[in-house]
Amino acid sequence: MKCPFCGFEESKVTDSRSAMEMMAIKRRRECLKCEQRFTTFETIDLTLQVRKRDGTYQDFQEEKLIKGIEAACRYTRVSHDQVLGLAHKISSDLMASQIREITSRELGEIVMKHLQELDTVAYIRFACVYKRFTDIKDLLDALDSIKYKDENFLQKNTKLKEMSYASKKK
Ligand SMILES: [Zn+2]
Repeated sequence: MKCPFCGFEESKVTDSRSAMEMMAIKRRRECLKCEQRFTTFETIDLTLQVRKRDGTYQDFQEEKLIKGIEAACRYTRVSHDQVLGLAHKISSDLMASQIREITSRELGEIVMKHLQELDTVAYIRFACVYKRFTDIKDLLDALDSIKYKDENFLQKNTKLKEMSYASKKK
C-alpha cells in the first residue's frame, strides 16, 4: 500500500476496524518513511460458499447464522446482543480466514464450539438440531462429553432432561 504523500511502498497498520455494514475493513496506516497517516478501505469478498449435506452450495449469509443461533438461545440467559455478537464474530473470523468454501458441518462445529463456552443449554439445543440426534443415547453421550464447571450443573441438567423428553414427543 503506497503512501499517498511520499509514494513509499511500506506502511504499518495502526488500527483496523471491521465495518461489515459498509462491506469494508477500514485501516489506519502510517507511512514507515514520512510517518504521515492515512486510511485505507479494503472491500470484503463475500464469495464464501457453504456446501450443504446434499452437496449443493449456498452463499454464506450472516442472517441465517443469526437465526440458527437465536433459535438455540431462546429462553436461555444468552441475550439478543450476544447472539448478534457471536454471529458477527463467526462471520468476521471466516472473512478474515479468506476461505472460499466451508461445509455446513464445519460451520456447525464452529457455532457449537462458541455456544459451548457461552451457554450449556443453548449448546445442547443447537447440537440437537444440528446433529439430528436420533435417540436419547446420542444426546446423553453428547451431554457426557461436556465438562461441567458450573455450580448450577444439577439445576441445568434437570432442565436439559426435561427439554430432551419434550423434544422426543414430536
Ligand atoms: Zn510517506
